[in-house]
Amino acid sequence: MRISTRLTEIGSQVYAWLPDFPGTWGMANCTLIGADSASVLVDTPYTAHLTRLLKTAAHEVLPPSAEISTVVNTHANGDHSYGNGEFPGAEIISTEANLQHLCAEPTPGQLETLLNQCQQEDDFGRYLLAHFGRFDYRGLHLTPPTRTFTGRLELPVGDITVELIEVGPAHTVGDLIVHLPDSRIVCAGDVLFIGDVPVHWAGPLDGVIAAAQQILDLDPDVVVPGHGPLVGQQEVRTYMTYVAELRDRIHELHASGLGVDGASRVLLRERRPDLGLWERLAVLTATEYRHLDGSNEKPQLLQILRSAVRLAPECIPETITPRYAFPAQSDRLR
Ligand SMILES: [Zn+2]
Repeated sequence: MRISTRLTEIGSQVYAWLPDFPGTWGMANCTLIGADSASVLVDTPYTAHLTRLLKTAAHEVLPPSAEISTVVNTHANGDHSYGNGEFPGAEIISTEANLQHLCAEPTPGQLETLLNQCQQEDDFGRYLLAHFGRFDYRGLHLTPPTRTFTGRLELPVGDITVELIEVGPAHTVGDLIVHLPDSRIVCAGDVLFIGDVPVHWAGPLDGVIAAAQQILDLDPDVVVPGHGPLVGQQEVRTYMTYVAELRDRIHELHASGLGVDGASRVLLRERRPDLGLWERLAVLTATEYRHLDGSNEKPQLLQILRSAVRLAPECIPETITPRYAFPAQSDRLR
């Protein structure tokens, strides 16, 4: 298992937690901004266990007097917010739209029940077990933001300036990015995926491209994607070109009269060999079709994913990780 739970210093008093990629669901990056008195954590991990590992790593780099008193959620997906409850008393900040979206996200309890009911004989069950079975959602409680904003919010953290900028709807309805102008760092959340085909639930893809442009407009040296390794501006540009190509292709297929399944099949056939989790192309197609069709339907995350697995059964990993297989011993981590 190739999981890293160390914090890497990426700027003055700024640390990145880049646990596991590519080809993984749920292992999102987090960023710690460590001032002497009060520190800020951008995004929290998917499970209580992972969050405790992160807290241990944070204690190793923060001054003894420092505590994580503020949590920022770039969006409401569980892999960026389920760990909120491990920071009792902390102020949890996100956009107003993210607070609303939280209601549409499956709860940890629902995921736990779903995984326990999954059958290995069923394709979708195998897929879910392979990607999500290792996570232990027990003991997690949805902890929503305690402070919300729209537009922009400036957050002084010791002598560090932290700017929160709403860029959604893009990946979800309420995405925000975090700008640290002193260190020229931007935390992009899931507006940006590196190494895998991106997955976007809200869209349209034009919104994702516009959000990525907002990252570039900040002229950063380092960008922390929601998933994948740290990148610079060039990789963000390459990503924008790829998303624009996908958008154009989906629009073409839509105009030709193909339904969403037919268009997804075409995109799956035309997939790039260098990107993982290519079944997500079917999710992107479904998202963009919803906009092209003017549908007001709220995206049903699990239904869309089930459909993607049905269209691309070859994507199901051969090895099914045992339930709760997460390393419990720190000596199994690197
Ligand atoms: Zn994510």
